Amino acid sequence: MYGKGIAKGLFVTFKHFFTTYVDDIRYAGRKYLHQENFEVRQGLRPNGGAYTVMYPEEKIAVPERFRFTPFLVVEDADHPERPGEDWCTSCGICAKVCPPQCIWIVRGTNPETGRPVPQPDAFYIDTDICMNCGFCAEFCPFDAIKMDHDYEMASYDRTTVHIHDKKRLSKPVSYWKNIAPTSALEEAVSRGQWEHNDIAKAMKKAGQPTTAPTIENMWLKPEPSAKAEAPEPAAPQATAKKAAPSTDKPAETTATSGDKKPKFDKQAMLAKIREKKANKE
Ligand code: SF4
Ligand code: SF4
Repeated sequence: MYGKGIAKGLFVTFKHFFTTYVDDIRYAGRKYLHQENFEVRQGLRPNGGAYTVMYPEEKIAVPERFRFTPFLVVEDADHPERPGEDWCTSCGICAKVCPPQCIWIVRGTNPETGRPVPQPDAFYIDTDICMNCGFCAEFCPFDAIKMDHDYEMASYDRTTVHIHDKKRLSKPVSYWKNIAPTSALEEAVSRGQWEHNDIAKAMKKAGQPTTAPTIENMWLKPEPSAKAEAPEPAAPQATAKKAAPSTDKPAETTATSGDKKPKFDKQAMLAKIREKKANKE
């Protein structure tokens, strides 16, 4: 029949229009008080009405794989041996793969020997340039950089406030488990333990068992260990920039500075990482 499709479409529109008012009556007065009601109403319901989210009083829950700016994973503040210690080894891979080159890293050095240590002294991300692609998190071989869910970062000063330093970027591993439990568990299973790879190596060397990742022990606090020690400073890696002199400005790990820097073969590096990941699986 001519016009049947139009009538069908209008029926759906009117159905949602009226259901909106039916829902308003059903949830009257409970809109702001019950998170559960809010989640039902703002969710996808085939027969539900339209619903206006009253931001910022109300916020739509983001899915687990949602990604905004990156953050650096550090140990929890109550970790028995490494409270607040970085997972990042300042290898520089994230800075290399970042398409708009908005990551700057200054590798740490041992103050006594002057030798590089696998920890960043400084870590900067220009969040105005970051395009939230997630490449840094995808390619980090140490699961040390993750995509955050916090999207409320507007400010009136874009010159300095939007350049996040290490202090602002650092968030505990328990935060990552909270916002992305499935991904955190998948990664731990892929690593083979809950602990950071370097710590796991030190624990195995000391004859101490690591924690096999399961959902049950996901939130258990790590036990103190008498034997396991922090990893020894590693030799400098070819992908990272030599530690910069102590200036206020961060040094880049990109191939744009320094003539003697070894050439970075991005494809070879990516293939190596993929191979490593495939071998783990
Ligand atoms: S790739 Fe990971 S470990 Fe390497 S510098 Fe970036 S965050 Fe740190
Ligand atoms: S999310 Fe993408 S653009 Fe942003 S820092 Fe990571 S790699 Fe760079």
